[in-house]
Amino acid sequence: MILTRDNYYTPEADWEYMSCSQYQGWCECEAKQLAKLEGRWVDEPKEAFLVGNYFHTHFEGPEAHEQFCRENFDEIFKTKTTKAAGTVITGKYAPFEQADKMIAVAEKDPLIRSLLDLPGENEMIMHGQLFGVPWRIRVDKYVPDGRLVIDYKTVANINELKWSNELREKVTFIDAYGYMMRAAVYSEIEKQYAGADTDPHFIIIAISKQDYPDKDVLELNHRQRYDYELEQIRDRIQHIQRVKDGSLRPTRCGYCDYCRATKRLFSIRPYFKLMPEFREQREEDYAADERPLLADAQEAGAVGDMPAVPPADNVAQG
Ligand SMILES: [Zn+2]
Repeated sequence: MILTRDNYYTPEADWEYMSCSQYQGWCECEAKQLAKLEGRWVDEPKEAFLVGNYFHTHFEGPEAHEQFCRENFDEIFKTKTTKAAGTVITGKYAPFEQADKMIAVAEKDPLIRSLLDLPGENEMIMHGQLFGVPWRIRVDKYVPDGRLVIDYKTVANINELKWSNELREKVTFIDAYGYMMRAAVYSEIEKQYAGADTDPHFIIIAISKQDYPDKDVLELNHRQRYDYELEQIRDRIQHIQRVKDGSLRPTRCGYCDYCRATKRLFSIRPYFKLMPEFREQREEDYAADERPLLADAQEAGAVGDMPAVPPADNVAQG
């Protein structure tokens, strides 16, 4: 398929291409990621996600922002209906008022302004190959002259450290959200696109959601760290592809919303098994074939509309 803005976030694109968020999904919970691809599980849109998109579409351009506001009108705008005037907008809900302040902070800063003003393409789609697998990326802003890959990120607090279960230490938001992996992948795909040997500049414009929003511009270029991230992908990607094509059963992380919604108890356990060091191996997803059970779970968990079913030749066998 030819990737476009309209089909970029579709199950069809997910079946054909790996993406950074899909890869993160596989690493977190194979069972949930496969259920998402097969349309058996749909993440509820979270407010933070909507606010992030509101922020992003502003920088994409007035047309994209207006379309986004139209599509999410009820979530964004407060309205009042009177007989005389009909329905009128009386304001925006607090998180979007806050997002407007964040946008203003970004646009007022001379350094950020200079990056926003560089000639380039917003929401630029690229695709390439990584370890024999097709990948797709969507760059918030790509500046071909000087090869800048710019990503906008709204974050609770730029300087606060977060606990990482994987690294077992507190890490910056860059590591907490897997940004070094993203930077490594984007750089490989951009190099293929540009036909270049050297890495592009990967730059994050970060704005915090605090009162008096904080701001920072960070460059993630770090070749050794990129190599480490790419090695991790190389070691995991073949396994992921085999789960994706149905030749291996997905395993459950045991703790995410999907795993909780589909959880079944098979035995009474000793209490100390709750400690992380006694956690058992990940189980195969016993719920993968149980669509009726999932339908119940989704009803109980208030999950939205089902997306389109993936092409039949990609559906897991067995
Ligand atoms: Zn899970």
